[in-house]
Amino acid sequence: MVQTDVVVIGAGAAGLMCAFTAAARGRQVLLLDHANKAGKKILMSGGGRCNFTNLYTEPSNFLSSNSHFCKSALARYTQWDFIEMVSRHGVPYHEKKLGQLFCDNKSSDILEMLLDECAQTGVDLRLDTPVKSIEKHEEGYLLHTGIGSVRSQSLVIATGGLSIPTLGASGFGYQIARQFGHNVLPTRAGLVPFTITEPQLKTICTDLSGTSVEDCLVSCAGQSFRENILFTHRGLSGPAILQISSYWQPGDVVHINLLPHLDLGEWLAAQKQERPNAELKTLLGEVFTRKMAGLLCEHWFVSKPLKQYVPSELEAIAEKLADWQLVPAGTEGYRTAEVTLGGVDTREVSSKTMESQKSAGLYFIGEVLDVTGHLGGFNFQWAWASAYAAGQFV
Ligand code: FAD
Repeated sequence: MVQTDVVVIGAGAAGLMCAFTAAARGRQVLLLDHANKAGKKILMSGGGRCNFTNLYTEPSNFLSSNSHFCKSALARYTQWDFIEMVSRHGVPYHEKKLGQLFCDNKSSDILEMLLDECAQTGVDLRLDTPVKSIEKHEEGYLLHTGIGSVRSQSLVIATGGLSIPTLGASGFGYQIARQFGHNVLPTRAGLVPFTITEPQLKTICTDLSGTSVEDCLVSCAGQSFRENILFTHRGLSGPAILQISSYWQPGDVVHINLLPHLDLGEWLAAQKQERPNAELKTLLGEVFTRKMAGLLCEHWFVSKPLKQYVPSELEAIAEKLADWQLVPAGTEGYRTAEVTLGGVDTREVSSKTMESQKSAGLYFIGEVLDVTGHLGGFNFQWAWASAYAAGQFV
């Protein structure tokens, strides 16, 4: 029988951070993961360069059915605290855009930094170690694991969400939460591409697969994001689409302004005045790719010289480009989603310590909780901040 102060289940972003934070306080910490490698999502993140935080992190960058919950932890461990650690370890980084900080080299720089902190503080990390069952005892928790029975005073669940099962994701955290009487809010894929099945739109998306449109305004359910969109052979992706996907519910209409920097009505009227013989297709080919302009004219508009359009026709074109409305068939689901929305209901967890209000000594951190960040480094910042909060108390 192994006896320890703290067991952390899940050696991902939050689990690693919590483990060394607690160990630095002198707690004896055992960190378990069923995967053969720690921090697989960190390695995959940010296209291999890990967008590890965001300079402009604010509570408003997070979705949760309990919107105030994240404030305390985010205030007590900020993006500046994480940047300080990154700098201390000499990890080179840069701001890509919109406050998003990425490694100059590889995501593994961040993972190595976290593993280094674990090694320095004496965290006992065991990979390939499944947890079969957990029981509560008067003095803590008894776990039946791949390395035998383990007793601990505190138990931290850092098993993440359901996104990308091939990276070790499992519903284990939700199962444990339910076992100890917690409410688990319905989960769904977030930061995920849309699929399109409507035949005409599907053709446009497939034919334009790989084409991105810079600076679109994408809106749904009262939220808007201004960023790129990307056509894929299944539908639509790109930052603005991923962001809005977290707010989208099946059946919702998504509105896309393809040229938000232009007053399209005025612009088309002015173009008609200035170059009456130019064809619509030529004009659109100057603001989109020529292929996209050709497809839009094939499917949406009739291309003819601008002088041949009556004002109401130009207005209709302007309206379609400024408010392209579509109802996605669905999303690509957990297979490609960056995050899982929903999860352990934060109303039953202390926002100060991340401790369960149902079972003393049990903690939930990171993505398993019903706190989901926007795209841009916010999900890692939540993992670091919630892990640090728990690490002070376990
Ligand atoms: P995870 O990092 O998912 O860690 C959970 C750990 O628990 C895993 O190691 C898993 O193996 C382990 N585990 C699961 N079940 C069990 C079990 N039953 N027993 C034992 N262990 C278990 N966010 C950003 O902020 N910036 C980015 O650049 C970014 N890029 C991303 C790219 C991709 C492809 C993906 C999928 C996500 C990305 N995210 C990014 C989101 C970010 O990775 C997650 O929000 C973050 O990793 C959540 O941290 P976590 O520790 O809660 O969970």
